[in-house]
Amino acid sequence: MNKSCIFCGNKNLTEKKVQYIYKHNTEYIIVNDVPCLECDFCGEQYFNGDTMEKIEKLYHDISNNKRNIQRKIEVPIEDYSAFS
Ligand SMILES: [Zn+2]
Repeated sequence: MNKSCIFCGNKNLTEKKVQYIYKHNTEYIIVNDVPCLECDFCGEQYFNGDTMEKIEKLYHDISNNKRNIQRKIEVPIEDYSAFS
């Protein structure tokens, strides 16, 4: 794959597997080991359309109860004004 980073113009992008956080309104899914191309210079990550479609489908399967969730974590949520 040869493309350059649209943010910094760097041409060195490396294939990596990263953690992707899918967000839909107030719902989140953390997906590990998602393939992407990462810019060696600025770290911007590029995911292809096929990968995004699969994650969309995962979201719909989970929200329609067609798929059991592998595991869950509890995430603390705070308002910045409450502690600053
Ligand atoms: Zn870049």
